[in-house]
Amino acid sequence: MNDTKIPIAQPDLTGSELEYVTDCLTSTWISSSGKYISEFESITASYCGSNHGVSVSSGTTALHLALEALNIGAGDEVIVPNLTFAASANAVKHAHATPVLVDICREDGNINWRLIEAEITPRTKAIIPVHLFGNPCDMGAILAIARKHKIFVIEDCAESLGASWEGSKVGSFGDISCFSFFANKIITTGEGGMCVTNSRDLAERMRFLKNHGMDQNRRYWHPEVGFNYRMTNIQAAIGLAQIERIDSLLSAREKLANHYDAGLADIDGLDFLRPNQGGESVCWLYSLIVNDQFPVSRDGLIKELTLKGIESRPFFFPLNMMPPYKEQKSFPDSDYLSNRGLSLPTSSLLQEQEIERVLDAVRVSSSQQQQDHFTSTSEL
Ligand SMILES: *Cc1c(COP(=O)(O)O)cnc(C)c1O
Repeated sequence: MNDTKIPIAQPDLTGSELEYVTDCLTSTWISSSGKYISEFESITASYCGSNHGVSVSSGTTALHLALEALNIGAGDEVIVPNLTFAASANAVKHAHATPVLVDICREDGNINWRLIEAEITPRTKAIIPVHLFGNPCDMGAILAIARKHKIFVIEDCAESLGASWEGSKVGSFGDISCFSFFANKIITTGEGGMCVTNSRDLAERMRFLKNHGMDQNRRYWHPEVGFNYRMTNIQAAIGLAQIERIDSLLSAREKLANHYDAGLADIDGLDFLRPNQGGESVCWLYSLIVNDQFPVSRDGLIKELTLKGIESRPFFFPLNMMPPYKEQKSFPDSDYLSNRGLSLPTSSLLQEQEIERVLDAVRVSSSQQQQDHFTSTSEL
């Protein structure tokens, strides 16, 4: 058996990344000034169909900066899906506002927009729809609610660069939209993020706040308390090399998803997240829902994959289960997906034989008898 480890994710840095980074080092432009920053910002914003890009140090600081630029703070409420990476809600706390949790839909994993209006109060300032695992939210429905109640929309696009809703890319809908370029995202800068917006005023305000709140025309004059949320030229150099290859990176992921789809189609007990009609997904992490017909539980399947050298990961915990966001209210669809969801290795560098190895491992688990599960696991 070939048991080289197959990682859950791996960045593909095989384009101009090394050349551009070397240029930063040899030119000594390694900090937060330099040509790669503005180039990366403008190409990424225009790829998303947005006018302005403001690079930052992470996806989390992108979300916090967006909230600060929209003047959202103490006493304000922000609607957040209950099933997301914690940073979507942490950023709301960083701004001293209150996240209000809304359940998701088990079909696509995204915020259930039908439940949003019931949570809107006079304090509600914004909705943060998260396009989970690369599936776009129903932006038509969400924008209609936001317009009706005159609240902002901040898209969390950290997992979904390149996905679209009714022909427009995610990132083009929100008042401000936020991306992450952590190493396992669609494109990476190591650590990094970006806010995109169509508003020149908001873009200027974000540039001001991310640079210590320093007056752009009067050096070392700080009319407000700002942040240091800047991206470095080295990070932007990696990012530029990545966004230049976005089409081929995404098509490699699509090919991988098709391969997994075909290989898993005839296995009972597995469901898949699918976008609503009008949505076109990108494959951030190829994800399965292990339903009760499957002979092994989700955690059992993760264990068996691990024994075969295949890394996988469970879905996020519902926010309402964790200490900072503890809430007694029930969120049945978050619980359902959180208990049954897992992601398989997803990278544009994955070889066909590696995908076959993952598929074989899932097939072996699927053909077990329920009662054999524990003995067979310990024998391996
Ligand atoms: C990764 C991620 C973030 C945070 O991005 P960082 O760059 O790690 O700070 C925010 N929201 C979601 C949905 C994410 O997946």
